[in-house]
Amino acid sequence: MPDSLLWRRWENGRIIGNARLNPQSEELFGTPYYVTHRAHLHEILHQKAAELGVVIRLGCKVEKYDLDATSFVLASGEVVHADLIVAADGIKSLARKTLLGSGNTEPRNHGLAVYRATVSIEEMLKHERTALLVESPNVHLWVGGNNHHAIAYSFANDKLLNLALTHPAEGVPNDWDGCDHVRQLQKDFEGWDPALTTLLRMIKTAVKWPIRDIAVPDKFSSTCQTLVLIGDAAHAMLPFMASGAAMAVEDAAALAESLRFARHKDMVPKAIAIFEQVRIPRVKHVHEASFRHGYTLHLADGPEQRRRDQAMEKEASGQHFVSSPNQWSDPTVLSWLYTYKPAVAVRMAWADHNQEGEKTAKRIHVKM
Ligand SMILES: Cc1cc2nc3c(=O)[nH]c(=O)nc-3n(C[C@H](O)[C@H](O)[C@H](O)COP(=O)(O)OP(=O)(O)OC[C@H]3O[C@@H](n4cnc5c(N)ncnc54)[C@H](O)[C@@H]3O)c2cc1C
Repeated sequence: MPDSLLWRRWENGRIIGNARLNPQSEELFGTPYYVTHRAHLHEILHQKAAELGVVIRLGCKVEKYDLDATSFVLASGEVVHADLIVAADGIKSLARKTLLGSGNTEPRNHGLAVYRATVSIEEMLKHERTALLVESPNVHLWVGGNNHHAIAYSFANDKLLNLALTHPAEGVPNDWDGCDHVRQLQKDFEGWDPALTTLLRMIKTAVKWPIRDIAVPDKFSSTCQTLVLIGDAAHAMLPFMASGAAMAVEDAAALAESLRFARHKDMVPKAIAIFEQVRIPRVKHVHEASFRHGYTLHLADGPEQRRRDQAMEKEASGQHFVSSPNQWSDPTVLSWLYTYKPAVAVRMAWADHNQEGEKTAKRIHVKM
């Protein structure tokens, strides 16, 4: 659980912004702000699903969806029928392609990629410069111009430090495997804060991921509402608000809540329509905020960057502030991003729908 997310100047590590995460998050939003490794989150979700009796089958590639029959075909040739298909098949979603046909929204490149690596904290503690980074639990964010930034935080019971280094990238992501990313990333961040460059010299292996998003489509479900998209399949966004997976989790909560209102199978399409009605504006809002924050993070040295840094001076020095370009601490952004309750939004939409239904029933009654 980090205390703060500290923005640092790229060349010397000076703190220029401070989003206070814990214990403020619990005080303001009722839950701590955690950082976790993707694999650990998967394990938590897997354990809960197993506890609830969900049958999980691995290694089953879906090759084709049949929207009319509400079924799909696996690579093994097996045909699976369902009342409702919930597709969470990521940014390259086959389900989305099937649903939107020629109107499909393809993944968009932004000329960016991220190197991902971990470093042993034991190793970091041996060096004065890097030891300082882990003496208290913070997320460190070095912001530099020209589409570069680096983010680092500890996880796995403070045994490892996770590093994500955003940088400009050319070429096709499929060709990146097997390249010597470690040497390249050290070169890309040459001349940065000595604490960061020392850290980068400790990296033994790194992977390189493309940074892409999609334009959020105006529908997440098939005409009969028997196939619905959730997660990145529906709304892959740039990772600059650290909220993509959070939106996938919100989708799941909203969908479960909406389906609770479907008292019989015939009401499932209505539940899906309400899910869509609630989720599309919400994810578009976060999608836009993520794009905007990428712009702020990557401002090159110059007057606009100086104005950004000036606007964060109050939060950096612990004074009261009413707005900030740092969207992880801007009170307006926080007030809609982290206070949102997906299940409540769904309940309100169902209440409106039922009220409308009652009004229509009354109008018909009066006419008669
Ligand atoms: C660099 C980076 C940093 C990020 N940081 C954060 C963060 O800090 N916080 C946050 O909330 N989000 C973050 N995200 C976003 C997050 O990773 C995604 O939003 C999240 O993984 C989406 O989950 P998903 O389950 O919808 O899709 P995915 O994680 O892409 O999973 C899709 C799954 O579907 C499977 N699949 C695909 N096609 C088929 C098929 N035909 N048949 C069967 N299976 C199939 C895939 O193998 C995969 O397992 C980050 C993303 C990036 C790139």
